Amino acid sequence: MFDDSVQVRCRRCKSAFRERARRLQNGYSRQCPTCEVVLFFDEDSHDQTIRRVMRSARQVRAALREAEAEQPRRKRVLRGAGRRGSYEAAEAEDNA
Ligand SMILES: [Zn+2]
Repeated sequence: MFDDSVQVRCRRCKSAFRERARRLQNGYSRQCPTCEVVLFFDEDSHDQTIRRVMRSARQVRAALREAEAEQPRRKRVLRGAGRRGSYEAAEAEDNA
């Protein structure tokens, strides 16, 4: 399974924890699990560590989107083999 989390380092206690890349959008904030300081995630943050985290998160999200884009294609191929293939293929596209 693809690892969809990014390592975040707390600016105060320097402990590292992992956060889902999907959550790490501009304006997102979360507490450090160790010292409970609130970290604010912003691509324009004055904190270089945060900026790096945002960049990694964006790369992970791009990779996730690519992986997801490939899934319905595979599904369509498999379902196309069935008798109701064309109908189910349309459905799969709607969900994508
Ligand atoms: Zn901390």
